[in-house]
Amino acid sequence: MSRDTAPEHLHPVFRHKVELLLQDLAHASLPFQVFEGFRSPQRQRELYSQGRSKPGPRVTNADAWRSLHQYGVAADFVLYIDGRWSWDDSGERKKWWQQLHQLAAKHGLQPLSWELPHLQMQDLKLTQLQAGNYPVGGDSSWAENLQQAISNWQGLPPAPPLPPGLPARPPLPPEASADNTYAVLSPGHCVVQARVTARDGLRLRAGPGTGFEIKTTLACNQQVFVLSQIGEWSQIDLQGDGLADGYCHSGFLATG
Ligand SMILES: [Zn+2]
Repeated sequence: MSRDTAPEHLHPVFRHKVELLLQDLAHASLPFQVFEGFRSPQRQRELYSQGRSKPGPRVTNADAWRSLHQYGVAADFVLYIDGRWSWDDSGERKKWWQQLHQLAAKHGLQPLSWELPHLQMQDLKLTQLQAGNYPVGGDSSWAENLQQAISNWQGLPPAPPLPPGLPARPPLPPEASADNTYAVLSPGHCVVQARVTARDGLRLRAGPGTGFEIKTTLACNQQVFVLSQIGEWSQIDLQGDGLADGYCHSGFLATG
């Protein structure tokens, strides 16, 4: 799992701050570059295992989904001199790292006391992000990358809810509902967020049809995840854990 330095995988608000900081650094002739931006939960887990279940020194205090890197709102800045990365903070260079942090503060970027290169968006709580309360102003390149990370993650801790503003998946062609076989799409992919629009609530059933038993009634405006569509029915995931909880009639679900 390699490092990701793609600016488009960062949240646009954070991305802009990173750009401004890089300009300031260049202006001050401080040779810092972005060493790593977005980090997948798999890579975070791998790094977290180091010095714990795997050999090597400990490099992070955060397990998967517990670092702001997983949400595209953190980046690591490292010295890049003569084509090489350097974490050297001895002698004269100690001042450079202090200057990095001073310039970062100007743009609302916050360091971690135990991790010199790490800068993250100020005043963001991890618990907010884990609950799906993402900073406003997210764009599609950030959201799609985060969506992919969420879809590709299995196990614990659970992935956060999907970011909003993703394009709704087009409905299946009519032939998909021609018989009563379960035309389930690959789970975990193309999951879309939807909202219940039935004023008096929407019945969640055990299967895709009115003949199936009612499991519960979803409240008006309740947010759910649609895993797949079978004819006029949507397979619903209530918790956002990628597992199906039942089926609702698609006519009372609004996406996008
Ligand atoms: Zn970091």
